Amino acid sequence: MARRAAHRPAGPARFGVCLIGLDRFGAVNNSLGYAAGDRVLAAAAQRLAELPDGVACHLGGAVFALLIRGTAEPEDAIKAADRALAALRTPFEVDGHELPMSASAGVVERAVDDGDPADALRAAAMALQWAKVDGRDRWRFFDEARNANAVDRYRLSAEMPAALARGEFGLAYQPMVDLTTGGVVGVESLARWDHPELGQLAPDRFIALAEDSGFILPLGMHLLEMACRQAVRWHGDGAEPPFVSVNLSAQQLCHPGLAAEVAVVLDQVGLPPHRLQLEITEHAAMTAEGDAIDNVRALAGMAVRVALDDFGTGYCGLSYLRRLPVHAIKLAGSFVAGLDGDGVTCRTDEAVLASLIHLGHTLRLTVTAEGIESERQRTRLYELGCDLGQGWLLGRPTTADKLFR
Ligand code: C2E
Ligand code: CA
Ligand code: CA
Repeated sequence: MARRAAHRPAGPARFGVCLIGLDRFGAVNNSLGYAAGDRVLAAAAQRLAELPDGVACHLGGAVFALLIRGTAEPEDAIKAADRALAALRTPFEVDGHELPMSASAGVVERAVDDGDPADALRAAAMALQWAKVDGRDRWRFFDEARNANAVDRYRLSAEMPAALARGEFGLAYQPMVDLTTGGVVGVESLARWDHPELGQLAPDRFIALAEDSGFILPLGMHLLEMACRQAVRWHGDGAEPPFVSVNLSAQQLCHPGLAAEVAVVLDQVGLPPHRLQLEITEHAAMTAEGDAIDNVRALAGMAVRVALDDFGTGYCGLSYLRRLPVHAIKLAGSFVAGLDGDGVTCRTDEAVLASLIHLGHTLRLTVTAEGIESERQRTRLYELGCDLGQGWLLGRPTTADKLFR
């Protein structure tokens, strides 16, 4: 099917590559059969071959390459990608069906002697993947910085199992304070990675990667066990010792064995279940079904506390609260930050906080406010009736040995 494009004047020795992938092509094969899928591919090849820009060829699967000789600048390759995507946007007629179709493209444009051809293809494939991730039906131009970021993420992700075995993952602890008495009633554990070359990494550098790879399950259980072991050592000076509040990712919540594994950890380390709180995000709670609901119910049945983290951020449906026996809500620091301002924003955030605190209390839930950084925020939250507070004013995340000194 490959066809030579119209001759272009020989400019500087540059070239472009567009890798073009049909979006959601698997759905055509699955719903109409492979023969229909093949006819779509043949029709797509025909349309690409008719473009004036270069040589089109089928690379395999639903991916085509458009090779453009004698480009002067990136814009030439981008225009070719635009034309290719437009050509594939017209619906395909197959077996009496009209199939709407779109495609994504990864674009590279460079000097001929800048790296080998295999590298240009790899770069275009990477950019095609970005176009898909960014929402399909678009092109992405290969970008060295984004590529370096992707490579770094891949390396970090691949390093995680060995890092866990070497004991590089640890926890910081942040006090949760009773706003009436000032006493520490709970402690949130926050994941940290002591990376040998990059120094200490915050969870936003590695938790999402662990979720993508599935490594969050072993990592999460390791952190949970570590936090529970630590909590056993805390004494309450006559009062009830603080509970430990452990963050759980959505994947852990959906894992069928979660409640049983938590029970084993509590038993092995000797922590009473009511001294463990598990924080799940409001989003995970909202979308909970099947195993996730069973887990929350089983955990509540064991007397483990369940808290909704970042409560009030972005979701207004509350019907899930009827299905899930939760004990606490944590109000996101973004609302608390608003208390320091003046004017309408401040009054709005205060009104939101007041109603969330009221809602929590109506449902008999403990209400914690996060991100308290100023005396004014603490006082206002106390006046609004909030139960617990957490934030830099009351105690920064710290190591276990410094927590109760
Ligand atoms: P989060 O659960 O909402 O945790 C609160 C974050 O706010 C923590 O960041 C904490 O260090 C920070 N923080 C505490 N007080 C203040 C304050 O007064 N002001 C400001 N600006 N920030 C404050 P960190 O430790 O970087 O954790 C970020 C997120 O990573 C957490 O948000 C949580 O979603 C996730 N995470 C942390 N540890 C774990 C874990 O063990 N497992 C899972 N699945 N996720 C975790
Ligand atoms: Ca949390
Ligand atoms: Ca939070």
